[in-house]
Amino acid sequence: MSLTKKIIIALILGIIAGIALTFASDKVFTGLDTYLLGPVGEIFINLIMMLVVPLVFVSITLGTAGVGDPAKLGKIGVSAVTFFLISTAIAIAIGLSIGYILEPGKEGVFDVENAEFEAEEVPPVMETLVNIIPDNPIASMASGEMLQIIAFAIFIGVALAFLGEKTAGIRSLFEQANEILNWLVNTVMKAAPYGAFALIASSIGDAGLDALGSMAMYLVAVILGLFIHGAFTYSLAIWGLGKANPLHFYKAFFPAMSVGFSTSSSNASLPIAMKTLQEKLGVKKEISTFVQPLGATINMDGTAIMQAVATVFISQVYAIPLDFTDLLMVVLTATLASVGTAGVPGVGMLMLAMVLSQVGLPVEGIALVIGVDRLLDMLRTSLNITGDATCAYIISEKEKRKEMKAS
Ligand code: ASP
Repeated sequence: MSLTKKIIIALILGIIAGIALTFASDKVFTGLDTYLLGPVGEIFINLIMMLVVPLVFVSITLGTAGVGDPAKLGKIGVSAVTFFLISTAIAIAIGLSIGYILEPGKEGVFDVENAEFEAEEVPPVMETLVNIIPDNPIASMASGEMLQIIAFAIFIGVALAFLGEKTAGIRSLFEQANEILNWLVNTVMKAAPYGAFALIASSIGDAGLDALGSMAMYLVAVILGLFIHGAFTYSLAIWGLGKANPLHFYKAFFPAMSVGFSTSSSNASLPIAMKTLQEKLGVKKEISTFVQPLGATINMDGTAIMQAVATVFISQVYAIPLDFTDLLMVVLTATLASVGTAGVPGVGMLMLAMVLSQVGLPVEGIALVIGVDRLLDMLRTSLNITGDATCAYIISEKEKRKEMKAS
């Protein structure tokens, strides 16, 4: 059976088991979760996280050395960032529109009195940008600071390209390291169906279904936004800009989306997402290795959609209307929040505080939406990594066409 089929079966069984577990007694769930589902899921996440930093470092270094010309790399970078920013702004517009059409905050009775939420300090976006160049690359790798690792790898890659023959030894060392890491990604992915099953059953069982009740409309609004952005914005971009078939793209990329769904982490999905794009969709290595890790760090369209819907929801629940300037402010701050959100579970919810306070909405409103966020995090992470992949695919297809014309 193909891996994709196995993963689909695991997803379905995971959802069924998760729902069944919501009916089980607390004792049964806790027992299963502590001794079976939790450990299996965590082992799977650790297995992939173990590969992320070395893989990103090695593959970006090689990709940069392969491109050779820093100006060309700069062009790819500018195209990618432009695509990321525009698609995120579109995502927010979709989220806001759905929020106003479905009015999730008007349905049901929301207990605003008891809503409490302590906003955590989030680093200012400017600080993140300034710190892209690491003062200690080893520390960056140790703590998994993705942007800093990317920057360091680019420097090493450019140096390798300039030094050519002189550093051929190190370059082949990187190539061999890349072989090893790719082999490991392949091997670890064989465990994906089991990991995905455990993670999904555990998080659905944990979240429970009663939390959904009055939040149903909010869930529908976010899910609809995610769906529309995936089905229309990305498909149109792939078709119009990439001149490629969106269905073919989605079919090939599905295993990576399912890893995004089960791990709720763009970073953890990177190894499989990069491999899928390169091997199944023929995306040029130097583009995939550069654009996808960058996207996993700064491009979060799914997160932005959730933040837009949540902002409208909270404004409706507290009956604090937003005017047009406020909405523009939401587009701006949610785009920045998406840049600043790390590709790990749950951070998008923390960054929502920044958007809310920017437009004068009570941060405590987050308490209302956080209960159902686990499930939405899974879905939005799938979309987040699909956005990164869409961008890499389009740039690569364009590049290929250019090369064809030139030859
Ligand atoms: N879990 C998301 C990701 O890794 C980020 C978030 O929205 O919390 O892409």
